[in-house]
Amino acid sequence: MNPTFLQKPIDYLKGVGPNRADLLRSELGIQTYQDLMHFFPNRYIDKTTYYTISQLERNSADVQIIGKITSIKMVEGKGRRLVATFKDDGGKMDLVWFRGHKWIRESLKLNTPYVIFGKLNYYNGTFSMPHPEIELLKEHEQNIRSAMQPVYPSTEKLAGRGITNKVVNSIMQSLFKEANNHLYESLSKPILSELKLMSKRDALLNIHFPQSQEHLARAQYRLKFEEFFYIQLQLAFKNINHRSKIKGYPFEKVGSLFTTFYNNHLPFELTNAQKRVVKEIRYDLGTNAQMNRLLQGDVGSGKTIVALLSMIIALDNNYQACLMAPTAILAVQHYTGLVDLCKDLNITIALLQGSTKTSERKKIHEQLENGELNILVGTHALLEDKVKFKNLGLAVIDEQHRFGVKQRSKLWHKNEFPPHVLVMTATPIPRTLAMTVYGDLDVSIIDELPPGRKTIKTVHRYDANRLKVFRFIKDEIELGRQVYIVYPLIQESEAMDYKDLMDGYESISREFPKPQYQISIVHGKMKPDDKDIEMNRFIKGETQIMVATTVIEVGVNVPNASVMIIESAERFGLSQLHQLRGRVGRGAEQSYCILMTSHKLSSDSKVRLETMTRTNDGFEIAEVDLKLRGPGDITGTQQSGVLNLKIADIIKDNDILKIARSYAWSVVKDDPKFQKEENQIIRFMYAQMMKFKNIWSYIS
Ligand code: ADP
Ligand code: MG
Repeated sequence: MNPTFLQKPIDYLKGVGPNRADLLRSELGIQTYQDLMHFFPNRYIDKTTYYTISQLERNSADVQIIGKITSIKMVEGKGRRLVATFKDDGGKMDLVWFRGHKWIRESLKLNTPYVIFGKLNYYNGTFSMPHPEIELLKEHEQNIRSAMQPVYPSTEKLAGRGITNKVVNSIMQSLFKEANNHLYESLSKPILSELKLMSKRDALLNIHFPQSQEHLARAQYRLKFEEFFYIQLQLAFKNINHRSKIKGYPFEKVGSLFTTFYNNHLPFELTNAQKRVVKEIRYDLGTNAQMNRLLQGDVGSGKTIVALLSMIIALDNNYQACLMAPTAILAVQHYTGLVDLCKDLNITIALLQGSTKTSERKKIHEQLENGELNILVGTHALLEDKVKFKNLGLAVIDEQHRFGVKQRSKLWHKNEFPPHVLVMTATPIPRTLAMTVYGDLDVSIIDELPPGRKTIKTVHRYDANRLKVFRFIKDEIELGRQVYIVYPLIQESEAMDYKDLMDGYESISREFPKPQYQISIVHGKMKPDDKDIEMNRFIKGETQIMVATTVIEVGVNVPNASVMIIESAERFGLSQLHQLRGRVGRGAEQSYCILMTSHKLSSDSKVRLETMTRTNDGFEIAEVDLKLRGPGDITGTQQSGVLNLKIADIIKDNDILKIARSYAWSVVKDDPKFQKEENQIIRFMYAQMMKFKNIWSYIS
């Protein structure tokens, strides 16, 4: 094999001068022969048929005709143009050029068979074709033939600088003529034969020069499969490699703390989903590989108790644990919650946040280092260098999307071995995506809400119905409930959003006057301390209404709040709407979410509103979100390989993804070091890939 041939810079290719090479690099990121070969068309024009001029109809679209040019003339005046008369056995038509006259006139040969292709015009009884693609029949027959004319993605700059589709086509022609002997298979024989896949060589040829619809379809399937396969292979390899290489502390025993707590102090019976997940975690912690697990569970599904049980397992094995939350308010809530749950057990818990006093801080540092402290709860403050654990065995991270990978790995390096990591998120990553992006993380899912939870009633109301909505709020407050009113906050128009919020606050203050009603307000322009004060007034029930921007999105738990009003709901994304809705429905009372909008709604907004009123299922919502937005915008995918897919589409080609995934994982399980003869090709491809790109540098 000679893979270096395909690593040659495109500058070397016939028909690609330095200028074109620079453009291809800067506009399309094409550096090498290999890159060019994997620059795929995004659609095709059918060129299977040759028409005769007598067959043409007034509304024919793109047509291909064989004939000869019999004469050429310049037509002067306005719309100066070059016109060639083109004849075949049955008729004649005009070929027309408005530009490049001189060059075209000189290159055209009279009375020589040509194949022309292009868009047909009909005017005054004559057919004409402006700027046809034109090729000598002789060359047409020699070239690599394609039944469908590929159309490549382009950019304005490329088109403007003369790199038309035709030019790309001809570059592909020279590429494949030159590289013809360097097209190697890249999948193993067993996979090829089991799935009856087209060979790599045929697939590449047919993707650029399809022989028929059927060949094209098979070529596409093969290349999509391959693309998914190697991404999954990297994830599987990483996963399995990770297990065997990265040692963790084995938590061998489930000791007395766990049993005592489980048998005597659980405040409720765990749901089946919680039991299952605790089991998964227990099993994971018991092996001597480091756990790296994502715990997904909708808002209110009860992740905290799972976190506590996991932490207790760490304590039982004489290790410490920490729980990190994205905001101070959440950290405090977790802290008070845990202290309450553990009140009858001999467990020491401390809270560390930015505002923790120096003296308190000192004590915490000491107790952490000498091991007196069992569980540390906190914010980013946990990541400060001074915070040193005696033996951190488990780190739980709540609301994963607020923390970067860097921060996570910082926790890792606090002690000799990395602690086990449990990341909890209420933003469900659609299964479709989780499979692709998080292949290296183990995922546990709590897909069941605690019993007796009333589903939140969600309705959509237009601004015109505001008075009725206010009436409803008053009734709920009368019943002793509390209400959130949320305004959008979009970075680009912060000033406008702020105005909206303040206008809203004013009108609500008028509608709900003191002293009968007390209102909290929280927004991004406030100092953190003021924010906390306002938030706490609401948490304590001193205020009945909380007017806020989306800062309250994450985790806040006020069980007595039963109404969530979302203003300008059409401006929120689906996952945000779902998160916000999750702030209510935490108590025993029936809760409501009211989505307020104007009458002007885009079709996407309509889908979002319809989805929200139809379902409470976070996973279903995440799937709709993925379909609406594409993978690019979904949390966590930004840096991952899925975005750079060249031909496959994780949504449309999900079936292929599943098959590719199962093959990739079974190859790695069966032959983790790619030692089998049949897997040599995979080993080679894998090494190549690692050499030339690294799709998973993003993973912690
Ligand atoms: P989240 O997954 O959103 O973090 P929490 O852990 O805060 O959810 O739990 C939400 C509420 O449900 C809490 O008040 C918690 O005590 C309660 N809860 C959790 N699990 C159960 C259960 N199995 N049965 C009854 N209530 C539960
Ligand atoms: Mg939570």
